[in-house]
Amino acid sequence: MAGFKVRSVLVTGSNRGIGLEFIHQFLKSPNPPEKIFATCRDPESPQSQELKNLSTKNPNVIVIPLDTTELASVNASVKEVEKHLKGKQLDLLINNAGIQTPVTLDSQTSEDMLHVYNVNVVGPMLVTQAFHPLLKRAEGLGNSGVVHISALLGSLTKVPVLFSAFPVISYRCSKAALNMLSRCQAEGYKQDGIISIAIHPGWVQTNLGGDQAPLTTEASVSSMMKIISTLNKDQSGTFVDLEGKILPW
Ligand code: NDP
Repeated sequence: MAGFKVRSVLVTGSNRGIGLEFIHQFLKSPNPPEKIFATCRDPESPQSQELKNLSTKNPNVIVIPLDTTELASVNASVKEVEKHLKGKQLDLLINNAGIQTPVTLDSQTSEDMLHVYNVNVVGPMLVTQAFHPLLKRAEGLGNSGVVHISALLGSLTKVPVLFSAFPVISYRCSKAALNMLSRCQAEGYKQDGIISIAIHPGWVQTNLGGDQAPLTTEASVSSMMKIISTLNKDQSGTFVDLEGKILPW
């Protein structure tokens, strides 16, 4: 956007992988946000040490516990964010936390299907719902945004191309549902000036993406930062790749 201003941002699952890289890149951006709410399930775990170090060195990085699937945790995080925003709006919410399990059509179980749906769809739904009042404080269409980190594996159109290599049934179904959630939020929150977009981050070297992935977290997130920096209302309700090109549902 010729100027989507991010003075405050909240990222879920920011203790590692793509989420952690978002925190690094917001800090390095030409105009770093005044408040970077770096949320993760367990700030005290060894997996969150790098994030905690960033927060010690940078007072604008505020680490907040947030398990996106637990309503009490979501509500507590809103209260904590509110203490820091003091009535100002949250400009950007990045629903990044997600999981993938290695299941096939034969090995898929109902427990796994529900668990993955809970993290990848119910979580972003609960978090967006809870932060909606803070996001809609931004006045004028296009002044705040929700970015859902989706996946090409959730594209119905692309199933014939990618199915044999990556069956991951529960993950695919959950990301297709996440895209629908994003599309619904774009429509439902239009009058509040909230943009909702789903982005495929590419195949990225993380715990989830594995070592064979071609993209580093730096490369993936720097492309997504470009998309975010030019986010506008015309993109709301779309599903895009790292170049900002529309992907088929
Ligand atoms: P990682 O496995 O590296 O990180 C996943 C993050 O999600 C961790 O911070 C993890 O926290 C967090 N998380 C999981 N469950 C919850 C929960 N209930 N509440 C809060 N946080 C939770 O994966 P990536 O960085 O690769 O994935 C980030 C997003 O990108 C996901 O939505 C994924 O689907 C998407 N994506 C990734 C691709 C890739 O190739 N890597 C490709 C396409 C999409 P904890 O440390 O506590 O487990």
